[in-house]
Amino acid sequence: MTKSVLITGGGRGIGFGIAEKLAEAGFNIAICDVLPEAETVPKINQMVSCYGAAALYCPCDVTDSVARENMLNRIISRFGSLDVLVNNAGVAPKARTDITEMTEESYDRVMNINLKGPFFLTQLVARHMLEQQKNNPDFTGCIINIGSISATVASISRGEYCLSKAGIGMMTSLWAVRLAETGIPVYEIRPGIIKTDMTALVKDKYDKLISDGLVPQKRWGYPEDIAKAAAMLARGDLAYSTGQVIQVDGGMTIARL
Ligand code: NDP
Repeated sequence: MTKSVLITGGGRGIGFGIAEKLAEAGFNIAICDVLPEAETVPKINQMVSCYGAAALYCPCDVTDSVARENMLNRIISRFGSLDVLVNNAGVAPKARTDITEMTEESYDRVMNINLKGPFFLTQLVARHMLEQQKNNPDFTGCIINIGSISATVASISRGEYCLSKAGIGMMTSLWAVRLAETGIPVYEIRPGIIKTDMTALVKDKYDKLISDGLVPQKRWGYPEDIAKAAAMLARGDLAYSTGQVIQVDGGMTIARL
């Protein structure tokens, strides 16, 4: 049976890049996003048609527990089961604000979308995967979390984002340990500076930082860079490495002198 993958925030940016790479790798694609159906469905259908994959768009806010359950039920009734979860949806703070000025409202928004929603979606999907295994001992799942170098690189003008991504680091460890003996690996990909709508507002700043040497590989990352790493993990190429963090950052987090 063709395997299926759910990619949250997959309507554009890094998530859409991952969806395309996994469609190319032979997965059926379910995408969760908060983007309007009218423009997202044709875009996804056109993309998967190049690879002969099937697509399902699930408008769903990852912070909404009822919507998460409805989404999983839709995916199971369309594809039979869910084999791979990619927790990719994430937001930056609406305004970059020094941590002396950060509001509780911004903290809650970012933590809910970037950490709480993914944690409880993972819990829901893990329960489904464990149930699948009971019925079919050959079932193998996989969970991939899209974190960020901000898990370890402190940006005092978006502390809530850094905290949420540091939390994704521990979330990866927790689920990796919990699911290890079931043969369902859990990984994290930590992107560096990737050219998407999220970074469009700070493009000039990052252009300069990159040309000044912040990133040893001296270029922006692209969604395809992240997608290639996700495809490697989803295919099972790192099956004995659960819990690993894959840095896709052009060498940015290598300590230098
Ligand atoms: P984009 O903003 O380009 O895409 C993210 C998508 O997620 C958007 O379509 C967005 O919709 C959607 N989304 C936002 N909130 C929710 C929600 N509550 N439920 C479901 N979907 C939602 O971001 P990127 O592609 O750049 O980022 C993807 C992931 O990669 C994020 O987790 C981000 O933190 C991480 N990352 C990105 C980096 C970069 O440099 N771009 C670097 C490191 C990590 P909408 O915009 O309409 O809200």
